[in-house]
Amino acid sequence: MNKGSLIVVSAPSGCGKDTIVKDVVELMKDEIHLSVSMTTREMRPGEAEGVNYFYVSVEEFKQKIESGEILEHAIYGGNYYGTPAGPVREQLESGKTVILIIEVEGGGNIKKLFPEAVKVFVIPPSFEVLEERLRGRGTDEEETIRSRLEIAKQELGRAGEYDYIIENDVLEEAVEDLISIIRAERFKTKYMINKVREVIDNA
Ligand code: 5GP
Repeated sequence: MNKGSLIVVSAPSGCGKDTIVKDVVELMKDEIHLSVSMTTREMRPGEAEGVNYFYVSVEEFKQKIESGEILEHAIYGGNYYGTPAGPVREQLESGKTVILIIEVEGGGNIKKLFPEAVKVFVIPPSFEVLEERLRGRGTDEEETIRSRLEIAKQELGRAGEYDYIIENDVLEEAVEDLISIIRAERFKTKYMINKVREVIDNA
């Protein structure tokens, strides 16, 4: 049993999950560790190594899988994405809440490895809004956008596999919603019982 809780956040591309999580991390810095994934995709303008992702070659990625350094991985839009195992295990052991922003396949695999993980799915207010947001980002080619919209439809169909669903209409509200889930999880008896024992032992 880990000391910290593990939160998986998934959403179709363009739902604003990265922004929501970034704001939550900012507000709860001392309590949260945000996992930085590894990917073989190209770095987008504005992204930085070790901040958004660790960018590696396909060969390096495969080596990391072989050596057990990747907790889970998936192929999305033709690129590999994976969660580095070490930091996640260390931060959970230190009692922090660890957040993984990963796609639905990875979410399912994490639940197999960590049955106590809490899965949160972020949805857009409508498909039209999602399309507008994806195009407005201006960072992807038309073909990439089309493929992401197609994947988005399939991903939305899997929201039922999640423990919570948050609608990202007004950002501040979505941020509050995610914080509520993280807090409620942290005060569950399974995480607090050691604290109770400490109180009793020192009585
Ligand atoms: P993007 O290229 O837009 O940054 O990410 C594409 C998709 O890959 C998103 O749904 C994102 O959440 C997911 N993703 C990012 N890192 C990981 C990871 O480590 N594992 C898995 N399974 N998916 C990831």
